[in-house]
Amino acid sequence: MTAQPPVSDDLDRLATVRKSIVRAIESAGRKTDVVRLVCVTKTIDKNRIQSILEAGHRHFGENRVQEAEAKWPELRKRFPDLRLSLIGPLQTNKVREAVELFDAIETVDRPKLAQALAKEIDRQNKAPELFVQVNIGEEPQKAGVAPGETDAFLRQCREAFGLRIAGLMCIPPLGEPPSPYFALLAKIAARNGLTRLSMGMSSDFERAIQLGATEVRVGSGIFGERS
Ligand SMILES: *Cc1c(COP(=O)(O)O)cnc(C)c1O
Repeated sequence: MTAQPPVSDDLDRLATVRKSIVRAIESAGRKTDVVRLVCVTKTIDKNRIQSILEAGHRHFGENRVQEAEAKWPELRKRFPDLRLSLIGPLQTNKVREAVELFDAIETVDRPKLAQALAKEIDRQNKAPELFVQVNIGEEPQKAGVAPGETDAFLRQCREAFGLRIAGLMCIPPLGEPPSPYFALLAKIAARNGLTRLSMGMSSDFERAIQLGATEVRVGSGIFGERS
C-alpha cells in the first residue's frame, strides 16, 4: 500500500480555497452564492473523497467516465445529494454511462455528441446540466468548439436537438495570462443569453471569478500536486 497524504491537509486546503473564493467574489462586487466550487477528484481515491464529503462539500468533478464509474456509485449511495460534473472529453459510446452517472456534463463540443446526448437524456428521462466547451485559445490539441462557431453550435443544440444548454466551459492556453480568454468566454455567453460560466482552475480561479465564473474547477489546490 502506498502512503496517503494526511486527509487533514486536504481539508485545510479546501478551507483556504473557500476563503479565497469568498474574497474574490467580494472584491468583484458579486453576490456570495453565485460561485460553485467544483472539487476535481481525478486520480484521487474514494477514501480521500469521502473525507471531503463528510466535511460537507457536495460538488465534484471527474474527467474520465470510466474512473468515475469505479468511484462514485458507491459514494452516491451514502451521499445522495452530491453533484458530479463531467469535465473531460466524452465519446459517444460512453454517453449512456455519462447520463446515468453525472449531474452536469461540461464538455458538449460537437453535433454528433449533442445528438447522442439528446437521445439518451430523453431515453433516461434525466436532465443533466449541459455546458458547451469552447476551445477558447483555438489550440489544435484541445477539445471544444471554436469561439467563432459557438453561436451557431448553440443554435443547433437548441433547435436541431432540443437541448437546454446552461452555460459555457473553457480551459485557457497554458502559460498565457488567462483573463482575456475568460473575458471572451463571458462575452460569448452573454450574447447567447447564457448565465453559467465554468472557468478557472487552481492557478487562476480568482481571476475567473473576477470575470464572471459561476463554477470554478479546483483539483491540485485542494489535493496537492497529482503524482
Ligand atoms: C484537472 C482539471 C481541473 C483541475 O485542475 P487543477 O489545476 O488541478 O486545479 C480543472 N478542469 C479540468 C477540465 C481538468 O481536467
